Amino acid sequence: MSEAFRKAAITGHPVAHSRSPLVHGYWLKKHRISGSYERVDVAPEQAGDFFRNFARSGLNGANVTVPHKEVAAGSCDWLDEAAEAMGAANTLWLDEDGRLCGANTDGLGFLGNLDQLAPGWDVSRESAVVLGAGGAARAIVWALLSRNFTAVHIVNRTYEKAIALVEEFGSGTVAYTWDKLGTVLGEADLLVNTTALGMTGKAPLEIDLQPLPEGALVTDIVYAPLETDLLKQAAQRGHQTVDGLGMLLHQAVPGFERWFGVRPEVDDDLRNLVLADLGVTA
Ligand code: NAP
Repeated sequence: MSEAFRKAAITGHPVAHSRSPLVHGYWLKKHRISGSYERVDVAPEQAGDFFRNFARSGLNGANVTVPHKEVAAGSCDWLDEAAEAMGAANTLWLDEDGRLCGANTDGLGFLGNLDQLAPGWDVSRESAVVLGAGGAARAIVWALLSRNFTAVHIVNRTYEKAIALVEEFGSGTVAYTWDKLGTVLGEADLLVNTTALGMTGKAPLEIDLQPLPEGALVTDIVYAPLETDLLKQAAQRGHQTVDGLGMLLHQAVPGFERWFGVRPEVDDDLRNLVLADLGVTA
């Protein structure tokens, strides 16, 4: 008997820009799986109905992007720990009983990238500085706490947003305004940029890494350009650095495994395929 054809999609609004079909398409082809991964644009006014009635969509599962991650989580019958903690889901699937399940894999993507490119990165690191307090920062703060970081310093232009994250995650997290950056950098084992600053077309990230301890690891979740000015400056000062492309790729792994039954790898061919599509040079 032939294997059932399985269908998944990126859902959100808009979805035309999403690289997820490229990533999942690469894995479907590589593993010769009978299945598809499409784009499904869900208008905001239809999002509630769409996710509540997901079983009728014809999809076996989906990724969810902006602005529907919260609505999707609210429509699930079951959430994993990360989605529960963040109140937002980016990966959905139907279980054997047709119940809608949701996960948030953004934090896992961040961890998977560092685990692959800087093995052992978390072994003796306990203190992190996270620049930014948006959706990506929230996933990364969750991820760092899950790896037993004892101090996560959140530095953001809008102080109230950093405070909101501290209220959400509690002990171990501290909020700062941007002018305190020099002081907090002096205690950091890890520096993460989660703001859009430094991205092609956005304002530059102006930062002086002088106070950062020698052994600190520096990572940027901006991946266009791949080597941001932050990573360049850090590498020149001798810090180990990790770029942000792998976060995008690793966050896709758990969904593919759920929907298509194979745990895929993030390999160089996939990185190069996505970089070429983004028009970014490695
Ligand atoms: P978001 O929720 O809109 O948050 C944006 C963050 O950037 C906020 O902290 C914001 O500060 C800060 N920011 C924006 N412009 C700024 C400026 N001119 N000066 C100072 N701070 C500024 O966005 P997000 O979803 O967290 O995404 C942030 C970035 O991460 C984007 O570039 C996105 O492409 C990238 N990203 C990468 C991955 C990956 O897989 N590698 C995954 C998710 C996101 P305020 O709070 O003060 O506005």
